[in-house]
Amino acid sequence: MKAIVKSKSEPGLWLVDREIPVPQDHEVLVKIKSNAICGTDLHIYHWDLWAQKTVPISLTVGHEFMGEIAALGKSITHLTVGERVSGEGHIACGHCRNCREGKQHICPNTQGIGLQRPGAFAEYLALPASNIIPIPNAISDDIATLLDPLGNAVHTALSFDLIGEDVLITGAGPIGMMASAVAKHIGAKNIVITDNNEFRLKMATQLGATQAIHLQNKAFSDVVKEVKQSGSFTVGLEMSGQQGALHVLLETLDYGGSLALLGIPEHEIGIDCHNIIFKGLTLKGIYGRKMYETWDKMLHLLESGLDISSVITHHFKATEFQKAFDCLQSGQAGKILLHW
Ligand code: NAD
Ligand code: ZN
Repeated sequence: MKAIVKSKSEPGLWLVDREIPVPQDHEVLVKIKSNAICGTDLHIYHWDLWAQKTVPISLTVGHEFMGEIAALGKSITHLTVGERVSGEGHIACGHCRNCREGKQHICPNTQGIGLQRPGAFAEYLALPASNIIPIPNAISDDIATLLDPLGNAVHTALSFDLIGEDVLITGAGPIGMMASAVAKHIGAKNIVITDNNEFRLKMATQLGATQAIHLQNKAFSDVVKEVKQSGSFTVGLEMSGQQGALHVLLETLDYGGSLALLGIPEHEIGIDCHNIIFKGLTLKGIYGRKMYETWDKMLHLLESGLDISSVITHHFKATEFQKAFDCLQSGQAGKILLHW
């Protein structure tokens, strides 16, 4: 089979031939139809320090996928060959305290596909059957390819009660855009989103944000003033991983407000604890998606009319992944799909 692999310790990815994996008794073999590219894949492409520490050379990369079941391990009886599926790419250990308490999303021993074990940017993927998610008929192949990042957006957006609340989202990347759509769908009042990319802010307002704030060339104090004028924010969703965004949130969230942190900063960042303490803010770190509560809720949100289709801006053949990565880096893209 063809696979997109981190073959060398330098920037880039390579298309190579690999053996089709043989599913173990508890696993499912998925014939991949399409993948989507995540910012994480871009870090691996660029081979930054985090990627060098995390990803072994010669690993197949990628974790966003949909496909059809091609074969079942011996002990699997609840799934069928040919079924359309996606899957949770974090394989939790199953025996630590968190796993045993039903909190697999914060298992300290988790192994990620495309990070520590072979990934989904290939013609076939073997995955434990417990991680497989059958796709309801109402959900298209393209949307099913996005369930992993949509799950990040849903898990973050459902962290706090958004109904009738003013929500501030920092970062109009694909996850911030999808979080805007989720917030709108579940009944948030004002959904204000910030970014320094005009193209992405426009997309976010099409998906559900009620106001976009363009940060470019604005002083911190002006941004804070503009945000404060745009609403009374009880909930913040940090989706950029940038220090400046976190500072804006801490400065503008209301007394008693709540903040969910999804964006991953590259370095340690300093924060003003006075805002957290004296305003009595609640901060919550977000990793991945809940297994499997987020998946169930996300499928229901989609079946009940949540529309994220406009987040997809480009399609490429999987073998033309280089063009797709170039396109993503241009900043003029939402989600990009690769088709096998
Ligand atoms: P992305 O990099 O495509 O989007 C981030 C956006 O933030 C960009 O559009 C960028 O222009 C914008 N931005 C930059 N500086 C900003 C600022 N000061 N204020 C507001 N916006 C600013 O990423 P994505 O795929 O949408 O993911 C969002 C973040 O979540 C990333 O940091 C990603 O690494 C992280 N992530 C975390 C998890 C998790 O489990 N915690 C999972 C997936 C992604
Ligand atoms: Zn565990």
